[in-house]
Amino acid sequence: MSAEPPAATLRLRLDRDALANNWLTLDRLSGIANAGAAVKAQAYGVGTAFAVPVLRDAGCKTYYVAHWSEVAEVVEHVPGNQISVLHGPLTAADAAYARATGALPVINSLQQARLWLETGGGPCDVMVDTGINRLGVSMSDIGDPLVSQLKVETLMSHLASADEDSVLNALQLRRFTGATTQIASKRLSLANSAGVALGADYAFDVTRPGLSLYGGAQRDELKGQIRQVVYPEAAIIQVRDLSAGDSVGYNAKFTADRDMRVGVVSIGYADGFLRCWSGKAAFEFGGQALPLLGRLSMDMVVIDCSNAPGIGEGAWIGIPYDLPSASANSGLSQYELLTVLGSRFQRIVPD
Ligand SMILES: *Cc1c(COP(=O)(O)O)cnc(C)c1O
Repeated sequence: MSAEPPAATLRLRLDRDALANNWLTLDRLSGIANAGAAVKAQAYGVGTAFAVPVLRDAGCKTYYVAHWSEVAEVVEHVPGNQISVLHGPLTAADAAYARATGALPVINSLQQARLWLETGGGPCDVMVDTGINRLGVSMSDIGDPLVSQLKVETLMSHLASADEDSVLNALQLRRFTGATTQIASKRLSLANSAGVALGADYAFDVTRPGLSLYGGAQRDELKGQIRQVVYPEAAIIQVRDLSAGDSVGYNAKFTADRDMRVGVVSIGYADGFLRCWSGKAAFEFGGQALPLLGRLSMDMVVIDCSNAPGIGEGAWIGIPYDLPSASANSGLSQYELLTVLGSRFQRIVPD
């Protein structure tokens, strides 16, 4: 049987212009540097197949993924040598795959440098650790002959606290500037999205925004300039009339104090709409707020439809997803809000 599945009851409306504009804004804020794009984790949940062509057509020429498994979908849209793989090569198979696809490994340690050289060398990027203590060649190792043998396209480091006015920012900048005098490379890169807002000193040649491409803004400098890209929407699949005293959902966490009309909405925690929204979320319909009632379940939530008397089954309900305010409201980070969105959303890109 090969029937097409019918239309979904859960969708992500994706704003192509907002994504393109966010990249252009970050590219402009990067000054003389060019903005690249972090497209790891399915472009932060937005979808690689949607995001990469939009970014490419906007002018982006550098793409960052974390895993080797993420290269295949990106290389369908852009040349392999525009893709950097942040986790770097752990095995000879990783190194062979890099050469087969043209994707650049980001070398994060002397072991990775040795592996890359022993399997044939060639162009690569290098990450130096200037204080995040996550991935990266340690500052004490940057003078090693293994590093000086590498053919470095982009020398990079990653900021730990660019979203805050932390003393770590200037310290990492100073260490990175020091590293650039010891490792020869064609290009330099330090700033993520929040780092772009730290100003020209942090921009170097290429910036690496991720979150702000997709509508996130962690610094005031970016709020107001970055547009929402992702609009989750779910359909009402049943309308019910409750009598005073009826309870709703698992463990009866909500009890009606009056007769009321409620809607069962096709979204749950399996879709990334997590329990932290209980008691916090109000959905939207026709400009009205429809509060979430009781405990949310795997595939559904129940909402109060008192403010939308005419509402019926099939109506599309908006889930407020302006990332800075949704983060403040739910307690999830802006990154989590995007990357938890599940696979049951149908992705819709209006013209
Ligand atoms: C994820 C990532 C980025 C993008 O960071 P945002 O905060 O999402 O802009 C940039 N550089 C590296 C090394 C990353 O891992």
